[in-house]
Amino acid sequence: MTNRRLRVLIIGGGFGGLFCARRLGGTDVDVTVLDRAAGHLFQPLLYQCATGTLSIGQISRPLREQFAGHRNITTLLGEALELDADSRRVTARRPDETTFTVDYDVLVVAVGMQQSYFGNAHIAQWAPGMKTLDDALSIRQRLFTAFEIAETLPPGAERDSWLTFAVAGGGPTGVELAGQIREMATRTLSNEFHSIDPEDARVLLFDGGDRVLKSFAPDLAGKAASTLQRLGVELRLGVHVTDVNRHGVTVSPKAGGADQEYAARTVLWTAGVEAVPFARHLADVVGAASDRSGRIHVEPDLSVPGRPEIFVIGDLVGRDGLPGVAENAMQGGLHVAACIRRELEGRTRKPYRYRDLGSAAYISRGNALLQVGPIRVAGFPGWLAWGLLHIAFLTGVSNRISTVATWLATIARTNRRHHRAFMLGDSHTNTEQRYTWATCDDQPSRPQPGPVIEK
Ligand SMILES: Cc1cc2nc3c(=O)[nH]c(=O)nc-3n(C[C@H](O)[C@H](O)[C@H](O)COP(=O)(O)OP(=O)(O)OC[C@H]3O[C@@H](n4cnc5c(N)ncnc54)[C@H](O)[C@@H]3O)c2cc1C
Repeated sequence: MTNRRLRVLIIGGGFGGLFCARRLGGTDVDVTVLDRAAGHLFQPLLYQCATGTLSIGQISRPLREQFAGHRNITTLLGEALELDADSRRVTARRPDETTFTVDYDVLVVAVGMQQSYFGNAHIAQWAPGMKTLDDALSIRQRLFTAFEIAETLPPGAERDSWLTFAVAGGGPTGVELAGQIREMATRTLSNEFHSIDPEDARVLLFDGGDRVLKSFAPDLAGKAASTLQRLGVELRLGVHVTDVNRHGVTVSPKAGGADQEYAARTVLWTAGVEAVPFARHLADVVGAASDRSGRIHVEPDLSVPGRPEIFVIGDLVGRDGLPGVAENAMQGGLHVAACIRRELEGRTRKPYRYRDLGSAAYISRGNALLQVGPIRVAGFPGWLAWGLLHIAFLTGVSNRISTVATWLATIARTNRRHHRAFMLGDSHTNTEQRYTWATCDDQPSRPQPGPVIEK
C-alpha cells in the first residue's frame, strides 16, 4: 500500500482543462496540465485579435502564471501523442521534437476540436481556420497585406480580387469575421489609402444553409442578416465551398446546378470542426465509439466506457447533443473535478448535467445577439450583455481591464485598431515563411487553378 497522492493528468488548458485544474487547486492530489500551447486562449475573441482590435496578450494568459498560486499544479508544454492506457502513461512531444512521458492515475482529456476542411486538406494552405493564436495572426497578416497589395496595383480585375474577402461558414465565427472585415474597411482604413478606396472591399459570406447563425432563433438570425447586409456583407446562402486556390473559391449550389467561381485573394475558413489526432488515437486505443467528427461517446459521468479513470470533457464530448461552447467545457471541467474530489472522500460520482446559460454573437459595433432560453436580445442591449459576458469569462484581471479600456478607446476614436502589427518574415533567415501565397505555389497538393469568373 503506497501513500502516494493521486496523480491527475489534464491534457489541454482550454476552457475545460482550466476549470478542472482550478477546482483541484489546493486539494490533496497532484495535478499536471499538459498543453501544446503555453497559454490558455480565449477563443471567443480570436476574431478581434485577427482584425487588429485586441493583442494576443489580451486574449491569452500563460498557464504557468495562471497556476502559479497552486503548489499542487504543474504545467508542462508538450503535445500529447500517444496513450498507453494499460500502463496509464502518455507520451508527449516537446517543441524541439523530442519526447517525454507522463504517468497518471486519472486522465482528463480536454483537447477541444480543430478546424475541419472536410477531407480537402489542400484548402488549409489557402484558407486559414480560426482556432489558434497562429490562425489569428495569419489572418491578420493576410487581411492587412491584401489592402497593401491592392494599393500598389492599377485598377482592374487583379486589384479587385485583392479587395475581395471570402469567408466560408455562416456560424458565429464566420459572421463575426465578415462583419469585422467590413467595419475595418469602412471605418478603420477608410482614410488611410490614396490609390484604393478600402470601402470598395467586398466581403462574401458563404454558407450551405438557408440562413446564417443556425444555432440562434430564426428572428434573431434574421436581424443579424439584415445588420450584416447593411454593413455591406454579401450573403451567399445555400452553397458549399468545394475548392479554394490562389485565385479564389469555387462553390456548388446545394440545390444543384453549375459550380460558381469567385475571385478572392483572401479566403478564411470557419466551416467545420473535427477531432485532433490525439483524440482519434485515444478512441482507437480504448475502443471508444465516436461520431463522424470524432467526438467521443462517454458515460453519463463523462468517463470513457470501460475506463472509469479516463474522462473526456468540452468540445470533444459526443453525448446528448452537448453544444461545442465554452460553458459546456467549463461545466464539464468542474464536474470532473467534483467526481475526483468525491471519490477521494469515498463518495460516488454523479452524472453530468449541462445547464444551458445561453449564447451570444457579436455582429457589428454596438450590435450583438443574446439568447438565453426564451429571452432574446439584439442590437445595443445585446451588445452590452455580450460585452459583460465576455469580460466576465476572460482570464486574468489585467486582461479584463485592458480589454475594456481598448474597447472604449476603439469606440471613442471611430474604430481605431491598435493591434494591426503583422509580420511578413525576414527575407534572409526565414524565406520559406515570407509570402504565404508564393510559398503555397510550391506545395505538391495544390490543385490546378481553374478559370475564374468575375462576379
Ligand atoms: C473563433 C471561436 C469563437 C468562439 N466563440 C464562442 C463564444 O462566443 N461563446 C462560446 O460559448 N463558445 C465559443 N467558442 C467555442 C469555445 O471556445 C469552445 O467551446 C471551448 O474553447 C471548448 O473548450 P475545450 O476545453 O473543449 O477546448 P479548447 O478551449 O479548444 O482547448 C483545447 C486545448 O487543448 C490543447 N490541445 C489540443 N491538442 C492537444 C494535444 N494533443 N496535446 C496537448 N494539448 C492539446 C489546445 O492547445 C488547447 O489549449 C468559440 C470558438 C472559436 C474557435
